[in-house]
Amino acid sequence: MKRFDNYIDGQWAGGSKTFENRNPANTDEVVGVFTAGESASMEAAANAAETAFPAWSRLAGPARGNYLYKVADLLDQRFEQISEDMTREEGKTLPESKGEVRRSINIFRYFAGEGSRFPGMLVPSERERVHMFALRKPLGVVGLITPWNFPSAIPAWKLAPALICGNTVVLKPASAAPLSAWRIVEACHDAGIPKGVVNFIAGSGGSLGTALLNAKPLKGVSFTGSTEIGHWLHGEASKRRLRIQLEMGGKNPTIVLADADFKSAVENTVNAAFFSTGQKCTATSRVIVEEAIYDRFLEALIERTRQLKVGNGMDSGIQIGPAIDQKQLETNIRYCEIGTKEAGAPVVGGRRLTGGAYDRGYFFQPTIFADVTPDMRIAQEEIFGPVLSVIRAKDFEDALRIANDIPFGLSSSIQTTNLSRAFDFIYGAQAGLLTVNLPSAGVEYQLPFGGTKESSFGPKEQGPAAMEFYSDLKTVYLKY
Ligand code: NAP
Repeated sequence: MKRFDNYIDGQWAGGSKTFENRNPANTDEVVGVFTAGESASMEAAANAAETAFPAWSRLAGPARGNYLYKVADLLDQRFEQISEDMTREEGKTLPESKGEVRRSINIFRYFAGEGSRFPGMLVPSERERVHMFALRKPLGVVGLITPWNFPSAIPAWKLAPALICGNTVVLKPASAAPLSAWRIVEACHDAGIPKGVVNFIAGSGGSLGTALLNAKPLKGVSFTGSTEIGHWLHGEASKRRLRIQLEMGGKNPTIVLADADFKSAVENTVNAAFFSTGQKCTATSRVIVEEAIYDRFLEALIERTRQLKVGNGMDSGIQIGPAIDQKQLETNIRYCEIGTKEAGAPVVGGRRLTGGAYDRGYFFQPTIFADVTPDMRIAQEEIFGPVLSVIRAKDFEDALRIANDIPFGLSSSIQTTNLSRAFDFIYGAQAGLLTVNLPSAGVEYQLPFGGTKESSFGPKEQGPAAMEFYSDLKTVYLKY
């Protein structure tokens, strides 16, 4: 069985404690055995990052960029292997994994280029012969805590901007899917990134989180995960006045108006609700349908959902993989019980899939509840599985009110051919990411990513905005 160690100060670091990474589509298969980090390893990693910081931050931006280009090239050379690893550890289908690994490669190339731009500010002074400008400087040691659902892209979209800005990092991946992040760290090592610049500690977030926040050199934390852990981290980080960035839960709506292109509205809703097993932070979990087409749309949604093929993501033709683990499967089951009490039995799905190969994995039927009202728990609380609530709206205004009437604000979508309605939605929707006539999920790396309300806190990730969190401005007034 392949053993995957932690990475501290340029060395692979073993330890006496380990944990297993199992395939959620076939729990007989152990994907890898990982060294479980402890408080002492977290401290050692933060110290190594602190030691490495002066030299790395002084390196010219384009030189840091060259390292990132090398990381991208190595990931590209290992593309097939890394994609298969991801499907085996997370359960998403192989085409989905390939799409994600491609995105990670693109993210490294994009931020490698930022090393040659790294824009500051230059403005004219009111005073004679005064040259004034502001330049960007890195924060120092930053901690990156990532979830299991995009086990490669999320580590990549934190790591690449952190490094290009000149920070040194300690990365703590999700215990349910640490291998994809480990592969990126392996590529950083093989690319020759100097020792101590990138450090990787796997293991339980509960204990390592406290150790990371207590590490003296730490200057900032970027976290993606549940709202509950994000809130806790925010409280702890504030005590030390650490800079913090949080990307958390969602309950994303898709509004379908009567004038929508009907077929693509059905397809976009099914894609956003069920692909990646509904385990995307931008997945649609509420579809709000204008009354005039409600019955016809529901019927088409049910028919399309019944055609989805659930199974092992390594098999060709499979569209929906398993839940990540037993806990998430139980959450899906629990919310189907809650939904049945609130809205009646689901019109499709609602059960664990069993028999044959299904018995070895955490497979759950794509599920639809109809005639859900906005106040029901299945319409308010994040499930993070393939469970969709269909809600009736009188008209556009009613649909927008329902869409916004939740604590979260990550992504929001509308399906309409009416340009004015599209713009009313763009200006009125309370979410950080909006799509029009596209699925609510499926973002690119070149523009800012992040939400509003309870979904996010701090500067946005990705695109040029990513530099905001990982750098600070230093202002200079110079008389010549
Ligand atoms: P999670 O349970 O909050 O875990 C996220 C990360 O935090 C993992 O690495 C976890 O480690 C770690 N962690 C757990 N307890 C911690 C603590 N006390 N201190 C520090 N770190 C701790 O979330 P998840 O189940 O992995 O991911 C699903 C959630 O992520 C959903 O709510 C989803 O909406 C959200 N998400 C949001 C976005 C976004 O961009 N807004 C993107 C993707 C996912 P362990 O794995 O060892 O527990």
